[in-house]
Amino acid sequence: MEDLMQKVISLAKRRGFIFPGSEIYGGLANSFDYGPLGVELKNNIKQEWWKRFVQKRSDVVGIDAALIMNTKAWEASGHLENFSDPLVECKKCHARLREDQIQDSKCPSCKGKEFTKPKNFNLMLKTFLGPVEDAANTVYFRPETAQSMFVDFKNILDTSRQSIPFGIAQVGKAFRNEITPGNFIFRMREFEQMEIEYFVKEEEWEKYFDEWLGEMKQWLRDLGVSEKKLHYVDIPDGERAHYSKRTVDIEYDYPFGQKELYGLAYRGDFDLKNHMEASGQDLQYTDPKTNEKFLPHVIEPTWGVDRSVLVAMLEAYHEEEAPTAEEGESAMRVVMKFPFWIAPVKVAVLPLVKNKSEVVLKAKEVFGLLKERFACQYDETGAIGRRYRRQDEIGTCFCVTIDFDTLDDNAVTLRNRDTMAQERVPLDSLASTIQERLYDKNN
Ligand code: ATP
Repeated sequence: MEDLMQKVISLAKRRGFIFPGSEIYGGLANSFDYGPLGVELKNNIKQEWWKRFVQKRSDVVGIDAALIMNTKAWEASGHLENFSDPLVECKKCHARLREDQIQDSKCPSCKGKEFTKPKNFNLMLKTFLGPVEDAANTVYFRPETAQSMFVDFKNILDTSRQSIPFGIAQVGKAFRNEITPGNFIFRMREFEQMEIEYFVKEEEWEKYFDEWLGEMKQWLRDLGVSEKKLHYVDIPDGERAHYSKRTVDIEYDYPFGQKELYGLAYRGDFDLKNHMEASGQDLQYTDPKTNEKFLPHVIEPTWGVDRSVLVAMLEAYHEEEAPTAEEGESAMRVVMKFPFWIAPVKVAVLPLVKNKSEVVLKAKEVFGLLKERFACQYDETGAIGRRYRRQDEIGTCFCVTIDFDTLDDNAVTLRNRDTMAQERVPLDSLASTIQERLYDKNN
């Protein structure tokens, strides 16, 4: 299993999905950059999420708030006081560790068994705004996107004509000074979240909690995540935040163990109440029918973008015998079987010969046509089998080959990534055939 992680990390680097950040300077601990294919994969995930949960729903609106907020917001939310992890130091090698992550009471670096007493280490990433580096100018990068949705609640209520139940959604960066980042893009200090704060009447919280759990399960199915690797963990009394009556951690069997992927929490009216008290602004909602004023309660589903990418890549990675080895093709192939909608490249256009100008011209014409509608690549270098393998390895859904016959019959060969089946398709209906196959619900 650990092996799978190494294979995915190496493919990610080799093919331009994800590389270590600042690499030419020796890197920066646990920072990663998304390359040309990684950014497409990540954008496909974020765009589908936005389409599904914001644009297609009339009860959710989106925002894109500043990463740095007034420090009073972090005082009110409790982050400055409580957003911390227990930090201990190994007495032998002085490694700094998160106490709740130490396994078998042993230091992972030197196997030492003695640790200092845990101290609360605040995870907020601090910086200064303005030219003077003093306490008055100290600000923090947001450790979650959620708080700006509460802080902007009144503005949204006043401008968007929403009535309860309704939600505010946001996709964006969050920063945490994690004590022990690691496992590739699983735990970083800079990462992205997709979050919704869904405002309901207190008496209806259970109904909407279940509804969002259902939405999250459907999302995971569509992302291609195996049901058997998922665990819906109800956090027991005493371990949940005091204001929450129910929290479900959605955990996944990563190669390095069962750990959190997403979360769903009922937050009561904790956040709005705190911001109302601290800001002195009235954040209550007025029921348009009864004129009753109250603070709505909140259901918060949260998705990590980078963990979505990681899980999508782990699930997609396949090595298989390739039954129809052609010229230049190895008998084994590595194929990223992404669900078609997240694949960074949908179609590759490959002229069968390189030097025959009519074939190449035709291929370029087909490429010009298809790239208007799909994310496409054009590749004319190397044996055709090798080109198929290159495309399989990045998860390209379809390969279109143009050969001498194309010049006569105006048809091309369409190859399916997963079945490797090839069929002859007339150029006239190529784009519509690809469109149909890409968005066929069975894929
Ligand atoms: P963990 O227990 O793994 O530290 P958490 O419970 O602190 O996670 P939340 O505060 O619920 O995480 O954050 C919401 C989501 O943001 C998580 O479900 C996860 O997908 C993502 N996330 C949190 N921390 C990180 C991180 N350091 N790197 C990448 N993604 C993260």
